[in-house]
Amino acid sequence: MWLAVRAVRGVRGGGAGSPRAASGAAAAQLRRRLESELEDIRGAGTWKSERVIASKQGPHLRLAGGGGGIINFCANNYLGLASHPEVIRAAVEALEKFGAGLSSVRFICGTQSIHKDLEEKIARFHQREDAILYASCFDANAGIFEALLTPEDAVLSDELNHASIIDGIRLCKANKYRYKHMDMQDLEAKLQEAQKHRLRLVATDGAFSMDGDIAPLREICQLAQKYDALVFIDECHATGFLGPNGRGTDELLGVMDKVTIVNSTLGKALGGAAGGYTTGPKPLIDLLRQRSRPYLFSNSLPPAVVGCASKALDLLMESNAIAQSMAAKTQRFRSKMTAAGFTISGKDHPICPVMLGDARLASVMAEDMLNRGIYVIGFSYPVVPKGKARIRVQISAVHSDEDIDRCVEAFTEVGRKHGALP
Ligand code: PLP
Repeated sequence: MWLAVRAVRGVRGGGAGSPRAASGAAAAQLRRRLESELEDIRGAGTWKSERVIASKQGPHLRLAGGGGGIINFCANNYLGLASHPEVIRAAVEALEKFGAGLSSVRFICGTQSIHKDLEEKIARFHQREDAILYASCFDANAGIFEALLTPEDAVLSDELNHASIIDGIRLCKANKYRYKHMDMQDLEAKLQEAQKHRLRLVATDGAFSMDGDIAPLREICQLAQKYDALVFIDECHATGFLGPNGRGTDELLGVMDKVTIVNSTLGKALGGAAGGYTTGPKPLIDLLRQRSRPYLFSNSLPPAVVGCASKALDLLMESNAIAQSMAAKTQRFRSKMTAAGFTISGKDHPICPVMLGDARLASVMAEDMLNRGIYVIGFSYPVVPKGKARIRVQISAVHSDEDIDRCVEAFTEVGRKHGALP
């Protein structure tokens, strides 16, 4: 019997694991088109390859097929909680107590006590009325604008907002205004134009991930007050570590009571597993539970993921020492690199883009850094504007001073070798 099955598989040209190519003219045409598109991406030098990591996320990594001892400067693991023993234990306990997953959306049979507890904790952390969980912050951004805004309303969005905000805004029927990056004169002009609409919502990243710059939230909130608008911030690169208690950009800039809606992720500083959320006024959260499509039509967050985030928030609420530990490390890197002759974009943020200009230089230098045991990534067009290629370095609270100094030394050597430094 077994032999017979194998013989049949043999005739059809594949075992259980072998891929089957679809046949027919349409499939062949599609394959040719896709291969040509892929070739164009390679030809444009914008191909993104994925390095395989053979260890936990952390400041030191082992890459698959390579040695260990790589110092990692390109994760969003800002607080080092992704491999914190208590965070991992909390995930295992949640997995054992609540199972692998819910096999359901929240409103059918996908809500457990841990989901409600985490939502309550998030709202308390941000000092907001309520919170709603999503599978990711991408989903939170995709789901909010359509649910909240109608053709009578307006949304005013920073031109460099994250792709998920741009996509979320695309999905809604409100009137759309795009203001120049962090340009308050332009925002004011757009707010004046938008006075004719029922409701105005200003949407901005709290911290911008490509430049490490922080939105001028005080000025944005003043303008919002003047023109009777609401403020929405995406805090993916701020939650957990910006501000005296790590509450985010609004805490850092003293406007927690002026920002109406906060979206953020559980997939970066808060343990790094996955998940996102919206926190804000209770009626808004209630409405999102009724209307937000990525919430209504997607599976509930898995218990292990909920366990990680919940423990990460406990750790942050117990003490502000973790949130504070970022600042000195960031300062050390930024000042040593500047002294070495590099230009670092942004200010006081653990995202430290080393500005190089030329795309090839960024890519060759990043490769050479890895040869010296420092894992960093080069970014070039279309991810950043043409002529503004850079290597983005991300500092984590769990980097040691020695890790940071080794990174600066490697940059200095590699920069001299490739002509980025004299
Ligand atoms: N918003 C910003 C500013 C981000 O950087 C990201 C992630 O890269 C997201 C949203 C999406 O977050 P998530 O990974 O939770 O989908």
